[in-house]
Amino acid sequence: MNIHEYQAKELMTKFGVANPPGGVAATAQEALAVAQSLKTTDLVIKAQIHAGGRGKGTFTNGYKGGVKLCTTAEEAKEIASQMLGQTLVTVQTGPAGKLVSKVLVAQSKEIARELYFAIVLDREAQAPVIIASTRGGVNIEEVAEHTPELILHRRIDPALGLQPYEARILAEYLDLKGEQLKPACAIFHALYNLFIQTDCSLVEINPLVVTKQNEVLALDAKFNFDDNALYRHPDILAYRDVTEEDAREVEASKFGLNYIGLDGNIACLVNGAGLAMGTMDIIQYAGGKPANFLDVGGGANEQQVTEAFKILVSDKNVKAILVNIFGGIMKCDTIAQGIINAVKAVSLPVPLVVRLEGTNVAAGKKLLQESNLPIIAADDLADAAKKVVAAVKK
Ligand code: GDP
Ligand code: MG
Repeated sequence: MNIHEYQAKELMTKFGVANPPGGVAATAQEALAVAQSLKTTDLVIKAQIHAGGRGKGTFTNGYKGGVKLCTTAEEAKEIASQMLGQTLVTVQTGPAGKLVSKVLVAQSKEIARELYFAIVLDREAQAPVIIASTRGGVNIEEVAEHTPELILHRRIDPALGLQPYEARILAEYLDLKGEQLKPACAIFHALYNLFIQTDCSLVEINPLVVTKQNEVLALDAKFNFDDNALYRHPDILAYRDVTEEDAREVEASKFGLNYIGLDGNIACLVNGAGLAMGTMDIIQYAGGKPANFLDVGGGANEQQVTEAFKILVSDKNVKAILVNIFGGIMKCDTIAQGIINAVKAVSLPVPLVVRLEGTNVAAGKKLLQESNLPIIAADDLADAAKKVVAAVKK
């Protein structure tokens, strides 16, 4: 799960990561009030979306930049009114962009240097890895591509945690010396603690800045949390913003279904993640491309299957549906009845290929036959893949 920058700032403050003061606003009037409360003539207004690259982004109404500096509260209000309710397109949002419904109003800092500091969980190394670079800021992707030698990777022993000497090595690498050294090390330790204690999979501070006043501050923050650990962090789960997530995945999760959106045109309804992988492979092998896979799990009921179907047909990219069920605990007749209910409820705008095997398969096939629905029956996986790819091409 991702969170917004203003929420990340709250967490950072809680864990003692130095960052500039600021507050969130959902209206231009609120932006004015936050700006006034900061009592400064150096302000920054930042669009809050679950994507980076905002500084270089453009709004669909032509307004340039999702990160803007200004000097008065009235200007802050004006900038907020330009951003709020508009869609911001950045390199990370894709061409559709993301709707801005909140802005962060913060004290702006005079930047001397922009650094990059991140902690990620490296599954191969089975440890957190700290990534640091003196070339932080909006061009970090180019640094990674053209001059990867300017980026340091350091594996942290998870049993020991970040050691003081390691923090000093990182500080030295980032050329943080003299009076910057202590606050920099404090930030590294605080971020490491935050990473471990909140079950993060990513903490990214870009930029970590040195100001002209010699302060070291986290100016931007992107956090990602392990979904499987959220049950033990209700405070972080409360930060969830479903409007930032794929609407189809949110809908599926309401019914206990696992939905993953992809960019092809064949929808896959399967039971079990392994079968989903196999089904997608064989679709590709037959020359097709999956639009998604929807895993109804081991023991779905009729209602879940009906909802699953509704989610699949609501996707405009879907040109055909492949149902591939191996009935173990899941019974084929339950799936068949779910399909029939769903097709009656939503009608079937695209061809449907069904391959059933396993528990109660005969009863399932009989139900489908007697329903008189325009279903293309398949005998095995290869046959199903061929038929669904052919149906798309028609
Ligand atoms: P991103 O583009 O989504 O990564 O948003 P950032 O918050 O990282 O802002 C992009 C860039 O804007 C940063 O790399 C800085 O150069 C600049 N910036 C962001 N906040 C401030 C600020 O408070 N003061 C100044 N002077 N520049 C800022
Ligand atoms: Mg940034």
